[in-house]
Amino acid sequence: MTAYHCELAVLPGGVEAEVLVVADGDRIASVEAGAPAPADAVRLDGLVISGLANAHSHAFHRALRGRTQARGGTEQSFWTWRERMYELAELLDPDSYRDLARATYGEMVMAGVTAVGEFHYLHHDRGGRRYDDPNAMGRALIEGAREAGLRITLLDTCYLHGGIGVRAEGSQRRFSDGDAAAWAERAGELEARPGARIGAAIHSVRAVDPESARVVARWAEDRAAPLHTHVSEQPAENDACFEAYGETPTAVLSGAGALGERFTAVHATHLTREDVRVLGGARATCCLCPTTERDLADGIGPARSLADAGCRLALGTDSHALIDLFEEARAVELDQRLLGGGRGIHAPHELLEAATGAGHACLGWPEAGRIEPDALCDLVAVGLGSVRLAGTDRNDPVAAAVFAASGTDVRDVIVGGEPVVRDGAHLRIDVPAELERAVSAVS
Ligand SMILES: [Zn+2]
Repeated sequence: MTAYHCELAVLPGGVEAEVLVVADGDRIASVEAGAPAPADAVRLDGLVISGLANAHSHAFHRALRGRTQARGGTEQSFWTWRERMYELAELLDPDSYRDLARATYGEMVMAGVTAVGEFHYLHHDRGGRRYDDPNAMGRALIEGAREAGLRITLLDTCYLHGGIGVRAEGSQRRFSDGDAAAWAERAGELEARPGARIGAAIHSVRAVDPESARVVARWAEDRAAPLHTHVSEQPAENDACFEAYGETPTAVLSGAGALGERFTAVHATHLTREDVRVLGGARATCCLCPTTERDLADGIGPARSLADAGCRLALGTDSHALIDLFEEARAVELDQRLLGGGRGIHAPHELLEAATGAGHACLGWPEAGRIEPDALCDLVAVGLGSVRLAGTDRNDPVAAAVFAASGTDVRDVIVGGEPVVRDGAHLRIDVPAELERAVSAVS
């Protein structure tokens, strides 16, 4: 048993002071507010929140940070960014992928992330050749997460086509299994282990035809596994989908049997009213990635309408232009304000729920994401002494954390009862040095 004594903690019923959280193994055994600190308790100063879930990640995109920004006079778009991403994908092998993932996940856990959903499509060697272990790349990600100290849901991604009706070419051949049956067979060989679970992903309606999407959906259904898909990130994707199928991506996915409570629509930016109704009716999760969506000029999705329709909202750092779930959380609200819809559209506690409980649930970790008995003991202490947060109203620290904290305010991170970050430093790996090495190796 390990006891953690929190200055302030966000519990399901609200914020409490002097909270004693006792861990038994990886679970919370008891939670008591207003409790004295036992002599052997570990003190957690500041505001303690549940571990954050980064529900949408492509670990290798971290190596593109700061390298794809607009230069004067150069036409740049999502599609030119994608070319840079393909060039990077060509350089990776299982060893460099593990190193880059381990460093990237190290950055995540330092920012308070205790579970990551890795949307993994870089499966094969150059030219699409199989590695001796066809899942060498997926296992490299799982290993990177284990070493970095956070949980992972490997969302093994089916990616078959370069666009609707277009063969996968160039580096896309590394993504493709050829057909959905081959994808299902390979993905079926991945096994869960403590700290790692397996889910499925349909890359997009661009990369997976409706019949193949149906195969992936059935695979996920058979395993009661999470199923994620990029949905309507760019208007051009909607246009191509409508031209080919006469329907929106959401309608195509619905027709393929993909939608339901285990389904997560990533981005969900350019939706029709009917799409919103269908996703809400299915009780799907929508994973918004606002820092990537603004970086790639995707647009702003209908977050409030989705929530009102019945969707849960989750958050992801996607391309890792930044890794900061506080920034993602407030961006959901602040983007809506920029659209002119007023203020206070999403309450701070709703935004925090997107970053914690809802994110974990859509990754297949329903037992994580809140501080209560029997939940996984994932605790994140946000220091209130930084120049950003000094003077925080102790009666409403959640609003301060959501609207002003950054990942660098995270002082301590406990994952499954084990300290991984203490006083702002990762206890196992030198994250900045590893990022420097891992990014340099592929740049
Ligand atoms: Zn993505």
